[in-house]
Amino acid sequence: MKALEIATPNQVEPKDVLHKTMENSIRSKKPRMAICYDFDKTLSPNDMQTFTLIPSLGMKSDEFWEETKDLAIHNLMDNNLAWMYQLIVRSKPLRKSISKSYFHEVGKDIPLYNGVESWFSRINEYAEKKGIQVEHYIISSGLKELIEGSSIAKEFSRIYASSYYYSPDGVAEWPAQAVNYTNKTQFIFRIAKGIFEEYDERVNDSMQEKDLYIPYEKIVYIGDSATDIPCMRLVKSKGGFSIGVYDPDKDERDKVYQLYNDHRISYYAPADYSDQSKLFSYMKQIIDSIAAKEIMKTEQEVLNIPVEMYAIYRDLKKMSDETLLSEKQRDDFSSIGGLIRGLIEGKIE
Ligand SMILES: [Mg+2]
Repeated sequence: MKALEIATPNQVEPKDVLHKTMENSIRSKKPRMAICYDFDKTLSPNDMQTFTLIPSLGMKSDEFWEETKDLAIHNLMDNNLAWMYQLIVRSKPLRKSISKSYFHEVGKDIPLYNGVESWFSRINEYAEKKGIQVEHYIISSGLKELIEGSSIAKEFSRIYASSYYYSPDGVAEWPAQAVNYTNKTQFIFRIAKGIFEEYDERVNDSMQEKDLYIPYEKIVYIGDSATDIPCMRLVKSKGGFSIGVYDPDKDERDKVYQLYNDHRISYYAPADYSDQSKLFSYMKQIIDSIAAKEIMKTEQEVLNIPVEMYAIYRDLKKMSDETLLSEKQRDDFSSIGGLIRGLIEGKIE
């Protein structure tokens, strides 16, 4: 009977242990990707205020938006600040307080496109199988508090949208955030850099590609209209994916055709998020392509382990020949170089 061979510490080469440890650390990293969504007419078939909020003020939706538009035009006002102001003004004569809890309540009534509710778990599960972690973000000009009340709020890492400042008794008093089409782009930078808080000005600091929380080529933006153009353009120009969606029932495609023709988006599809939809199929292709690139990147990083050590060894070797240094210093560099050399796989000179 053959004697059982027991490995002793002396039989293990330090370079093998080092390489394995570094390789394991590289291979255990789980790459992230982000999917960013506009809300109105992207995840939901109409403007979120239209369903319950505006009727609760005794107004028709068209009437409210017409008034808001006039207010903006005659006062050179931002459209979002105009509707936020108008909501407060219109609620006062009714002695109705516009509170955060009321918004959350009303948010429950917002309808969503087909398949939206199960989309997130299906996407997360598919990506998980491919070794990718997906984070979902809302970037909307609509009202954050309404989205927070919706059934899908829990799916998002962050909800970036317009919101109110509330008095101590919980009544909306003043805009805290007014998100319009151009300042929507700041949130793409926040997600990429991992500088998430709205007040944090470090979002403007320069950051190297390797330090990004989510590199731009792993960001997807989904929107429906002209207000999404700056985000679509930013994401697409930085190597990410921009998608235009249109209402599947109305089938009005002017906007997506125009966006595609103007190279703002890389794909368009009906806003159908169900299992068999074109959108789900395309998103799986995006995840596949990100996963394939990540595999190549991981292999390159593993190959780079001895290469980087070799570069250090070469530099130390040069220093050990440097005549400007004392003999003691040259000896020190030589002995550290010898140590490093012992950690590099393969024969080198
Ligand atoms: Mg929209």
